[in-house]
Amino acid sequence: MDMQTSFLDRLFDSGLLIETGVDGLYGRSGQFEDVIAAFERLIDRFGGADGAEAIRFPPGMNRAFFEKSGYMKSFPQLAGTVHSFCGSELDHMSLLKCMEIGDDSWAKGQEATDIVLTPAACYPLYPTVAKRGPLPAGGVLYDLQSYCFRHEPSKDPARQQLFRMREYVCMGTQENVTDFRQSWMDRGVQLMAEVELPVEIDVANDPFFGRAGKMLANNQRDQNLKFELLIPITSTANPTACMSFNYHQDAFGTKWGLELEDGSVAHTACVGFGLERIALALFHHHGLDVALWPAKVRKALWG
Ligand code: 5GP
Ligand code: ZN
Repeated sequence: MDMQTSFLDRLFDSGLLIETGVDGLYGRSGQFEDVIAAFERLIDRFGGADGAEAIRFPPGMNRAFFEKSGYMKSFPQLAGTVHSFCGSELDHMSLLKCMEIGDDSWAKGQEATDIVLTPAACYPLYPTVAKRGPLPAGGVLYDLQSYCFRHEPSKDPARQQLFRMREYVCMGTQENVTDFRQSWMDRGVQLMAEVELPVEIDVANDPFFGRAGKMLANNQRDQNLKFELLIPITSTANPTACMSFNYHQDAFGTKWGLELEDGSVAHTACVGFGLERIALALFHHHGLDVALWPAKVRKALWG
């Protein structure tokens, strides 16, 4: 049995994760949630004094904004759309007939609704902020958290289809947002040291789709637009990205019409924490019983 499957089985056996029959879709126990809540309080201790505006969007976003974001150009393989039955009584009867005989084609008649599952916590934010008008001098800072969906079923417990991302997003001048990103790279390392997790930071790229995507990925790497904080969870050779630090240059500013007071296009950056991955890293390194975690780690999380 490989390390991914055996860690997943141990998580199921301990009740920390609860099987649903779908790879990458799990229930979480109260204990698992308590670790995430405690870790989020630790994040607040590091970022709280920055005065970010907190916003919580639901895990679905406006399909029109999703279409405009260009997500389907870059990551069609990961997207999840919400479809519903919109037919007549006759359609309903044939749907039930299909289901009765176990014919999967019942789902083909479902129609796209106005809602798409959120692919990253910051996606609903840009159009929201654009509507507010020009950004104040010094830029703006937001604190987000959302369940996100990515269609990548896997036996690796660190690759889930529905998981939470906590994000800070900064919009302003190039200097504002690159300073913001650098400060969170430093804080990320300090934060993980408080909970005694081994980390490395490396340049990264997103999994852009297809042959054209290779060029986008190379460009992202060459320009150092994405860094990740990696922690070994189910493999020491391939540690898992538990935080990411993304500089979008003026790409989102241009797309969404985000302007500074002087009329120039805003730059943006976001820093994401993969909350389930961080909880899993803690369980992997310190054991499945939180009562036995090192005193320093327990103190950092629960005071
Ligand atoms: P990114 O937008 O950089 O791909 O993702 C931001 C963060 O979300 C990642 O650094 C990671 O911690 C978390 N994340 C990304 N994909 C997954 C996934 O498949 N499962 C889980 N649990 N977390 C993920
Ligand atoms: Zn983001």
